[in-house]
Amino acid sequence: MILVTGGAGFIGSNFVRDWLARSDEPVLNLDALTYAGHPDNLAAVRDDPRHLFVHGDIRDRALLDALLASHRPRAVLHLAAESHVDRSIAGPAAFIGSNVVGTGVLLEAVLAHWRTLPAPDREAFRFLHVSTDEVYGDLPPDAPPATEDHPYAPSSPYSASKAAADHLVQAWHRTYGLPVLTTHSSNNLGPRQFAEKLVPRMIAQALAGRPLPLYGDGLQQRDWLDVADHCAALRRVLEAGRPGRRYNVGSGHSRSNLALVQALCTLLDQLRPDPAGPHARLIGFVADRPGHDRRYALDTRRIRTELGWAPQVPFDTALARTLRWYLDHPERLAAAPPAGP
Ligand code: NAD
Repeated sequence: MILVTGGAGFIGSNFVRDWLARSDEPVLNLDALTYAGHPDNLAAVRDDPRHLFVHGDIRDRALLDALLASHRPRAVLHLAAESHVDRSIAGPAAFIGSNVVGTGVLLEAVLAHWRTLPAPDREAFRFLHVSTDEVYGDLPPDAPPATEDHPYAPSSPYSASKAAADHLVQAWHRTYGLPVLTTHSSNNLGPRQFAEKLVPRMIAQALAGRPLPLYGDGLQQRDWLDVADHCAALRRVLEAGRPGRRYNVGSGHSRSNLALVQALCTLLDQLRPDPAGPHARLIGFVADRPGHDRRYALDTRRIRTELGWAPQVPFDTALARTLRWYLDHPERLAAAPPAGP
């Protein structure tokens, strides 16, 4: 079986559901169910005997040791993290706790487990760490997209904590020989994301006829990847990635936050017309986020050429699919903060 951490969150739950739909291999899913993890994200696999959910924290070494000893996973996919940049600015300690300390405790437990395996199993074992494009920091407007060799330059407590975790993962490979893989994904679009994040939050605001507040001038550029494409990349990297190697995972669909929200407004005008006028009338601008990066962009040639992965979902399809899911699940928008950026 495989062990997935953070499998009740946005990407983790999409990954677990996707995995079980495509493979018979069981999943041990360890998640602390913080505010961002939602048990309903796993409703479709709740009664699946191949899915074993454990409510627990990656910092709980005794729990990790017990789970690893009894289930003996052949791979660990590490997605558990605090993930919201704004929260990291308001309260960095939780990010250092889960992302840095948590990754360190997990690595120690996994290394101890890995060392008990017979040689062929040790060789086949993989620890896949799910990181972000944000560790590369702010890219100047004309700079080429970041390759995996781009220097680390994280700007927010969130990206700094992810960068620290990345370094720990690389050190466990170099020092102890643990067969690790790291992926750097861009922003994901898809169902089941917690309502505080940009896309669900803008949907919630627009449906309520409330302002759509964008940071600064709204021209921050992001690469938007359908979560299904991300899940396919994780499966492929797990299957064929070279231990110690890092892989960028992006779509090449770059949009400013303003363009993204405008596209969302256009879709909403079609699906849920507002008698008061086009939803874009609600777009406004607020003081910029401190340390806000202007641009992220990823060079994805490595994963495309070495592993044959390519994104399949066009941007408009990904956005429309995401919007439709939230329109069908309005209860999942209720947690969106009512005002402010
Ligand atoms: P999320 O916040 O939706 O989910 C994180 C999950 O981790 C939650 O279910 C939470 O309960 C769990 N968790 C948090 N701390 C934990 C701990 N100490 N022990 C056990 N479980 C814990 O996040 P997401 O958007 O699904 O992101 C998943 C991973 O992908 C993260 O590592 C994130 O940095 C990375 N990532 C996300 C994006 C994106 O666009 N969402 C992009 C690139 C990388």
